[in-house]
Amino acid sequence: MTVPAEDRAPQALRDDSLLTVDGLALRVHVNARRRRFALTVEADAALTLHAPEGRSESDAEDFVRAHRTWLMSRRALRERVRPLSPPKRLVEGEVFRYLGRIYRLALVGDEPGNDRVRLAAGRLIMSHELAEDAARGRVALVDWYCRTGHAWVTGRLQPWAARMSVPEPMVDVRDLGSRWGTYRPEEDGREPGRMSLGWPLFQLPMHLIDYVIAHELAHVRVPGHDARFWRLVRQALPEYKERRMELDDLGRRMWMGEIV
Ligand SMILES: [Zn+2]
Repeated sequence: MTVPAEDRAPQALRDDSLLTVDGLALRVHVNARRRRFALTVEADAALTLHAPEGRSESDAEDFVRAHRTWLMSRRALRERVRPLSPPKRLVEGEVFRYLGRIYRLALVGDEPGNDRVRLAAGRLIMSHELAEDAARGRVALVDWYCRTGHAWVTGRLQPWAARMSVPEPMVDVRDLGSRWGTYRPEEDGREPGRMSLGWPLFQLPMHLIDYVIAHELAHVRVPGHDARFWRLVRQALPEYKERRMELDDLGRRMWMGEIV
């Protein structure tokens, strides 16, 4: 027997989940000792919602909406003292994002010939040798984003293509400058063509990468951004407008590859 919708307990907030309210993305921290909601704007302008245990998502959304003006002005202040896409330093503990989660850099003793960055036990591992050479360190990091991003998106593409009744294009992950994704048909104009995704995209949470995937897949059918294009995107992703707003907002804060 199914429980009628109105009798179901409201969705409770989960620790370390991502909450989106009117295009603002907030990381949720649930703390049993906390009595009421609180908001903080982190040094990198990321937003955190601190919540007591057992509160619902809709309570949290009401709280964020009531404090939106404060949040926006507080964040604008942070951004005045810190650039939107701050450069990274190749030092122990530096923060990198992957699929919306934070991973800290760990520097390890040199394994000869190891020019690769890898993820192990929740840390991004790099050799001291690489870290001391900013140019090589950067190449290794970008290469890591390209490899792991490509492996992730390979499995992600097929369900979206099926949902949109679009043939699955080839996909690669590389440097696209400030663009999140592009789509090019075959030379002879036929499907399925090739989708390229920019490596910085993989710093973002999955639901925003999905938006870019759906967007580029819609281009397999429709080249420009006319009404027919957005209709196709909306069919696959009814909340696409909110995702696009969130991508604009969060995307501006991502690391674009600068090392100091
Ligand atoms: Zn487009």
